[in-house]
Amino acid sequence: MKIIDAHMHFHCGGGFDDTALAAGHVNSPGHLLSEMNRLGICAAVAMGTGRGNPEAEEPGVPDFASGELGDKLYYCAGVNGDESAGAQQPSPTLLEAFERQFRDPHCAGIKIYLGYRKRYAADAYYRPFYELAGRHRLPVVFHTGDTAGGHGLVKYAHPLTIDEVAADFPETRFVMAHFGNPWIVDATEVAAKNDNVFIDLSGLAVGNFEPKWFVTHYHGYVEHLKCWITYLSDYGKFLYGTDWPLTNLEAYGALIRELIPAEHHEEVFFENARRVFSRLRVDK
Ligand SMILES: [Zn+2]
Repeated sequence: MKIIDAHMHFHCGGGFDDTALAAGHVNSPGHLLSEMNRLGICAAVAMGTGRGNPEAEEPGVPDFASGELGDKLYYCAGVNGDESAGAQQPSPTLLEAFERQFRDPHCAGIKIYLGYRKRYAADAYYRPFYELAGRHRLPVVFHTGDTAGGHGLVKYAHPLTIDEVAADFPETRFVMAHFGNPWIVDATEVAAKNDNVFIDLSGLAVGNFEPKWFVTHYHGYVEHLKCWITYLSDYGKFLYGTDWPLTNLEAYGALIRELIPAEHHEEVFFENARRVFSRLRVDK
């Protein structure tokens, strides 16, 4: 079975090197490519922040230091720079820069970092991006749920806040990253109610772990996830993603295979990402 990893990060250096080591990986394009080949991951979507300056008023893109992943790696252009500017609306220059970025065939969507910025999804600042994404038929991925580090404010990243924009922009597809964890129930409801909302299953476990141990040790958590996945019972809604380099790719794949009934693996691990990220050029 071919796999699309719909949520990863590819940045050189910084804390990502140690994070990768803790997950049993090396934060390098060569290592990632060999792991993707070994595990049947034919394409990945990286979440863009910003080259060296996440506050810059420009679309955030991942590092492609070596270009080794060129054909397999797609990305979401990250919305940055809004915090320092304190603007009510994005500048026309910034929106034009996003439109230019969309000409890159590997730009597959927009990423908005809820919880790391003091704005809700329905903030006037973000609305032009939803309109733009809809017009270009590109999805918007939201960080939802817990934030990494203590500097975020999780109230902004609550999955219930996606309901309003999903209803206001029916032509735009929205992805709630990380299943809104730990607000799994709320994320389920927002996806159930809105045809244009999807869930990515990345970041539900981090580091390197033995999948069987994880399922036993976190029995209640795993059953909770299974319970609400089954409650939704719409396997067209879930996208496989890992949050690499935060987690071990092989262990994470095994864990998600535990959560999703085998007859729906093809949809969750491949088909849904191809549909939601319609720019992905991958053959079956
Ligand atoms: Zn992530």
